[in-house]
Amino acid sequence: MPHRTVHLFQKGLGLHDNPTLLAALESSEVVYPVYILDRKFLMSAMNIGTLRWHFLLQSLEDLQRNLTKLDSCLLVIQGEYESVLRDHVKKWNITQVTLDAEIEPFYKEMERTIQVLGGEMGFDVLSLVGHTLYDIRRILDMNGGTPPLTYKRFLHILSVLGDPDIPVRNVTAEDFQRCKPPELGLGECYRVPLPEDLGIPQESRSPWRGGETEGLQRLEQHLKNQGWIANFTKPKTLPNSLLPSTTGLSPYFSFGCLSVRTFFYRLSNIYAQSKNHSLPPVSLQGQLLWREFFYTVASATPNFTKMVGNPICLQIDWYQDAERLHKWRTAQTGFPWIDAIMTQLLQEGWIHHLARHAVACFLTRGDLWISWEEGMKVFEEMLLDADYSINAGNWMWLSASAFFHQYTRIFCPVRFGKRTDPEGQYIRKYLPVLMNFPSKYIYEPWTAPEEVQKQAGCIIGQDYPLPMVNHKEASDHNLQLMKRVREEQYGTAQLTRDVVDDPMEMGLKRELSEENSKKGKRAKNREQT
Ligand code: FAD
Repeated sequence: MPHRTVHLFQKGLGLHDNPTLLAALESSEVVYPVYILDRKFLMSAMNIGTLRWHFLLQSLEDLQRNLTKLDSCLLVIQGEYESVLRDHVKKWNITQVTLDAEIEPFYKEMERTIQVLGGEMGFDVLSLVGHTLYDIRRILDMNGGTPPLTYKRFLHILSVLGDPDIPVRNVTAEDFQRCKPPELGLGECYRVPLPEDLGIPQESRSPWRGGETEGLQRLEQHLKNQGWIANFTKPKTLPNSLLPSTTGLSPYFSFGCLSVRTFFYRLSNIYAQSKNHSLPPVSLQGQLLWREFFYTVASATPNFTKMVGNPICLQIDWYQDAERLHKWRTAQTGFPWIDAIMTQLLQEGWIHHLARHAVACFLTRGDLWISWEEGMKVFEEMLLDADYSINAGNWMWLSASAFFHQYTRIFCPVRFGKRTDPEGQYIRKYLPVLMNFPSKYIYEPWTAPEEVQKQAGCIIGQDYPLPMVNHKEASDHNLQLMKRVREEQYGTAQLTRDVVDDPMEMGLKRELSEENSKKGKRAKNREQT
């Protein structure tokens, strides 16, 4: 007997490679495509900030348009998800609820609640994996029930598992025509709200526009450049280019506007046609596998987004310093490279991976010795691509709390950016107050003579802050703290795992050693980038 189904969109805001929606259409006589806009859930579980709100609403509008083209419609229902579901299951005589299977604890909790409700109200629940390349449970099973904790081990497991499942076919108008559309006029009652309806500030300077259509267009644009795709080497991409030097697809993956499997297989096709192509960890498929790696570890690690109670995370007595955290968050550190990155993040909601390295290292083990959890929360609110597993995983990595062990490598907030953008164009774009500084001083404007500062129309300490720390002193001190932590926790599970090289450091390391041997002054213990 065919079902009367509510398909719940959550993260999978697209119609291509959407196995759950396809299964809903294939098993039903009527499908109600629903997005429950549960503001409390979105704010408390996901800490969604203004830019992400805009991106979400744009993605919903796009989904609405695309469903309309297929003779259906999107029903955006505002309210607490359990009561919304309860009401509408009754109202529409629903016999099945379909939703994507997710790994985040808040989505798992939601699914459990819906299962219980199903038991009580007599509807079936169908949930299928949609946002990872593999069903993560298979990876865990293959590794003996625990997550592989190094990328190398992870790749080994995947080599045994073979290729990921291929994407499912796109849903079509025929699929919707086979089952009855929701009642006429229903779409009008449950429209996508405008930002102002939700009290979200209108203005958004983010160049990213949400939605499957935009995500697919960006994907196609990149795929045209087959040479670039085949040779993509992450460490060679520039953190301070004025347009993204990587794909910039992460917000679309994060909202499920783009399928990772679709991208994976489109890359495979290009690789198959190229004589040579780059490989994981630095290739584009390698990037998707990093995503998969963090999803796998997060799915089976308790308290993954916290230090306390997290079995893979070093336990560190970080400083609690609200004032310093505020300066970092609001781009007032006095280091133009760091402040420019934080400004791009605040204004646009996306920054390059290495830029994330720079500000994360600065906040944690590099300069401020503030907990990675604080940085993660700021990223969670500001990033368009904010993702439970990837965000926490990378913050642990950067703070050398897990995964990454070469903690003596500390990024210099002056030299790091200068290497790829000596003229400071990136800083000039995001910190116009420093626009007129000569390139010689743009990364360290406090060293400019008073006359130069006057000519540049910006007095340091007055128009732009003095550096909030002495980087050399702070990082030397923090390095000693980190050494001590590691000595104290030597032999604990966190420190006895395989050491894995940071792929982002591979290019840098090679360049550094060439540079150092040229100068004949190789740093003994510590390499600064
Ligand atoms: P590309 O280089 O084009 O890569 C393609 C895709 O691969 C990305 O869209 C992303 O889905 C995946 N990917 C790339 N790098 C990584 C990585 N290191 N780990 C896991 N997946 C990766 N990425 C997020 O999507 N959400 C986050 O919340 C997030 N938080 C981060 C926090 C910190 C401190 C750091 C250092 C990195 C974080 N990243 C996060 C990872 C990475 O920086 C972004 O995925 C990447 O910069 C997105 O840009 P892109 O789409 O152009 O990436």
